[in-house]
Amino acid sequence: MKTYAFPGIIEDDILRISAGQIPYMRTSWFSGVMKENERMLLDAIGCQGGRVMFFTSSGTAAMESVVQNYVAAKGSAFIIDGGTFGHRWVQLCEYHGIEHEVMQIPFAEDIDYEALEQRVAYSRPAVFLCQHHETSSGQLFDIRRISDICHKFGTSLVVDVISSFLAEELDMNGMGIDVAVTSTQKGLNLPPGAALVFLAENALKVDFRHNNYYLDFQDNLKNLERGQTPFSPATTLFMQVNERMHRNLEKGIGNVIAATREKALYFRRLCAKYGWEIPAHNPANAVTGFFVHKNADILCDELQKHGIFIMPSGKPHFFRVSHMGSDTYQDLDDLAGLISEIENLPR
Ligand SMILES: *Cc1c(COP(=O)(O)O)cnc(C)c1O
Repeated sequence: MKTYAFPGIIEDDILRISAGQIPYMRTSWFSGVMKENERMLLDAIGCQGGRVMFFTSSGTAAMESVVQNYVAAKGSAFIIDGGTFGHRWVQLCEYHGIEHEVMQIPFAEDIDYEALEQRVAYSRPAVFLCQHHETSSGQLFDIRRISDICHKFGTSLVVDVISSFLAEELDMNGMGIDVAVTSTQKGLNLPPGAALVFLAENALKVDFRHNNYYLDFQDNLKNLERGQTPFSPATTLFMQVNERMHRNLEKGIGNVIAATREKALYFRRLCAKYGWEIPAHNPANAVTGFFVHKNADILCDELQKHGIFIMPSGKPHFFRVSHMGSDTYQDLDDLAGLISEIENLPR
């Protein structure tokens, strides 16, 4: 099987970590694994002095935990709704009854940062919620520009980096990000099932609200002191996080990001060759989103007959290929060739 859907192709030896017996987690050995995970992850995202909470959940629970513990404590939110994932912040705030203002961004377009500054200057929200990479379209937003605006008006910056962590340059302290969330099935290139919440030093000073027993920040941070989670963790998945981060730090985070970027650029040259349009104004490294011309209705089924997965979308003719996995340039040549063949099947 070749998968260009998240999490992408995972190395066999990393997959095998979760194929064995499950070691007990209330041990000093597992505490050591988690403490090392925290150190390596903080290092990789430039969050020295901060903390990482580990949730056994998908990424959305990490987003929800931030809304319930952090945004609820601070008050109001300003949200960039640039697609499926931006809209999720909106739905979470609606669901939990948090006052929020929304700036809608058209599909695959960048933010009008001047208009954004005017709106933030006027409404002075307590928290800013956005995505670094809006994965539904492939559009990357400029976090440094957003951060400058937030800092001018005393707004705390929360960024969903679920599909940009380890795929784009990220430096929480340097970029002034207070809270970031990610999950295992994207840049970490691991099975789904665990999510991470990064809290910068500033964010740790907040008097968190207690709205969610399982995802309570104070309780999780207290347990983290001894390298534990309050409830049963996805033990082997956190062992895979450990192995992945050792490998990434050995390669160098900059090199990990560069390798993903090179694959993305390579695939985009293939898109140009076959005439597939890429709508993103500023395409992110993690995925390439592109429009095919014909046979879009059969593309995914036909690819699956060859054991290949790509990601469809709600938009007609629009597909996404992930660059997070350990596929090769040859794999990408084969994939693009096959998509083109299917596109040209007579119907
Ligand atoms: C994948 C993703 C999520 C979370 O999705 P889950 O299915 O809950 O893991 C959130 N935001 C972005 C930008 C994503 O790419």
